[in-house]
Amino acid sequence: MIEVFVKESAYDYAQLKPEIFNMIASIEETSSMRISAGARVLIKPNMLAAAAPDKALTTHPLVIKAVVEYCLEKGALPQVSDSHATFSKFPTVVQDCGIAAALKGLHVEIKELSDSEKVFSTRRGVNFTPDARFNALELSQDALCADMIINLPKLKTHTQMGLTLAVKNLFGCVVGKRKPQWHFNLGENKELFAGLLVTIYGVLRPEINIMDGILAMEGDGPGTSGVPRQLGVIMGSGSALALDMAVCRMLGIPEMSLATNKAAAGMGLADEFSVSGDMKQIENFKFPTPTTLLFGLPFAKTFFRNNLTSHPQNVEGACKLCNDCVKICPAQAIANDAKRLHFDYDKCIRCYCCIEVCPHKALEVYQPLAVKTIKKIAEVFSFR
Ligand code: SF4
Ligand code: SF4
Repeated sequence: MIEVFVKESAYDYAQLKPEIFNMIASIEETSSMRISAGARVLIKPNMLAAAAPDKALTTHPLVIKAVVEYCLEKGALPQVSDSHATFSKFPTVVQDCGIAAALKGLHVEIKELSDSEKVFSTRRGVNFTPDARFNALELSQDALCADMIINLPKLKTHTQMGLTLAVKNLFGCVVGKRKPQWHFNLGENKELFAGLLVTIYGVLRPEINIMDGILAMEGDGPGTSGVPRQLGVIMGSGSALALDMAVCRMLGIPEMSLATNKAAAGMGLADEFSVSGDMKQIENFKFPTPTTLLFGLPFAKTFFRNNLTSHPQNVEGACKLCNDCVKICPAQAIANDAKRLHFDYDKCIRCYCCIEVCPHKALEVYQPLAVKTIKKIAEVFSFR
């Protein structure tokens, strides 16, 4: 039985540091691994975009700092890395997220994940994948070569996947343009995308996972369209999957309503877990606008597809025509005529990468009436 540790916390370093130290020590005690002297430890926060910590887009720098200090105390060699989703330069992300200031003076390498290496899904025991394309992946060389991975997700909503937690955070180990390529290759199939995420998790299997849920994000996350929400909690586990399931329980949704948990169960990877600590029930957490209606149905094409499915649209008057969404769109479904954006909804695969990268809160999910009705029905039958 895997343990998930839960602790009420705050961004007060005098309080946070010993809490994170204790949590890591507890994970070490309940598993067979130890952070040892000389070990190369890859620390993988959520560094989605160049945004201040109070926006709740990224893992808080003090959480990262405490983990780095723990590694240094053990004589290990920590490296803080991610391959972020936006078009900001990596040093700008490090600066604006407050990571540079928090880690100043500490002996730690801060480096963008840039090189990839081919790896087979069986590397750490994934014997079944839901799609043959997942049997060999290209993942970050640094992540594959590290002696240990410490995964530091942020608790956030995610327009396409519902939530982005510990398993989803590892998608950052897919380097650069391969991320939108995967979105394009898998299209609108959320279940298949979840299978990819779980395969990546199964290949990397971070030994330690600490989730920053102190200032979390609700609403239409994970980008600037989400809304910060104080939950005041950190959670840790030796299993990213167990951690994600515990979060679902805390937020009051069925564990199998999260596509990655369901995919993991189908792949025989889901862990039994127990909670250690006081896990409070979070009331009225706002999940993203549902986006799954009618995907996959054969008639959901052209007119029906465009009128009965959710899709991205501009927030009136907010677009700065910066082109970030145009560049990230894996389906090349957005055009910019220098006056406004035009969406080709026949091409659009509803991955919502555009909303994720928009730095100006200028995109939102448009919900047709039929989707709103389904949402109401789902609420009545307490899916959320
Ligand atoms: S919608 Fe956002 S990302 Fe796209 S061009 Fe406008 S401001 Fe830039
Ligand atoms: S328009 Fe947005 S949601 Fe549609 S494919 Fe492009 S990035 Fe994805």
